[in-house]
Amino acid sequence: MPKTGIIIDRPPDIVWEVFTKPEGWKKWWGGDLKQVAPGWQDGAKLIWADGSTSEISGFSRQRMLQFTSAWMQTAFRFTSKGNHSTRVEIEFAPRGGAAFNDGGQAHKASLASSLEKLKRYVEVGICWFCKTRPTVASAVVEVKLRGNGEVERMPKHERTIRNEVTIRVPRCALCKSKYRKARHIDEVGKLVVFILLLAGCGLTTVIGNLGTWFVVLWLIALGAMCVGILFGFGYWKDKVLRGIEEKQAVDFPEVQMMKEQGMEVTWWSRP
Ligand SMILES: [Zn+2]
Repeated sequence: MPKTGIIIDRPPDIVWEVFTKPEGWKKWWGGDLKQVAPGWQDGAKLIWADGSTSEISGFSRQRMLQFTSAWMQTAFRFTSKGNHSTRVEIEFAPRGGAAFNDGGQAHKASLASSLEKLKRYVEVGICWFCKTRPTVASAVVEVKLRGNGEVERMPKHERTIRNEVTIRVPRCALCKSKYRKARHIDEVGKLVVFILLLAGCGLTTVIGNLGTWFVVLWLIALGAMCVGILFGFGYWKDKVLRGIEEKQAVDFPEVQMMKEQGMEVTWWSRP
């Protein structure tokens, strides 16, 4: 079977998650996939916008998907390449009496172009933080890295080259607003505790007149209040960031690759 492939700089779980979103197929595959019934599994039907259907004839989560249409059998294979990348291959074969008069060259070129689009769609078009919504340019997080300073030997002196790169981490508008809200919750929480401590310390001198034990009890109560408030604000923040909290801009694959090459993160734009 003729085949073509590409490396996508994302791990298989992310590539698979984007690949199995029917609404994305119009953007990279060309065919408008309306529905997968009853879901991604062996024997399921791909229902296209023009009314035609294909059948899933081979399925292994995050590894392989094969579907069969009237004239063509197409198989996608996903192979992990290190921590950050996935090789995606498409194999195809005509069926039902169909045949290529160019040995499949034109179809192969068209599939290669679809894979290029899929790569761009996964790497740039989808928010890194939620893996679901489309990237918005104004929400992108910039991460700056600096090389460890290679020394270039000139005839009479040495020169240190500080190579810098900026990596743009794709993000959607909703994740941006969630991060902003989380940061505000954090700031308000700290402010409330600060004011409480200030007022609490003021009261301590008043309570001091009642006796040492009152002061001890009061300080314990004050500490418990502060911990409780911080805990409450922390819970609220986690709730806002649910689903995206574990993703940090510095965990982004390109940033990790640069770090493995010896560069270090010097700055990133705050949410
Ligand atoms: Zn997002």
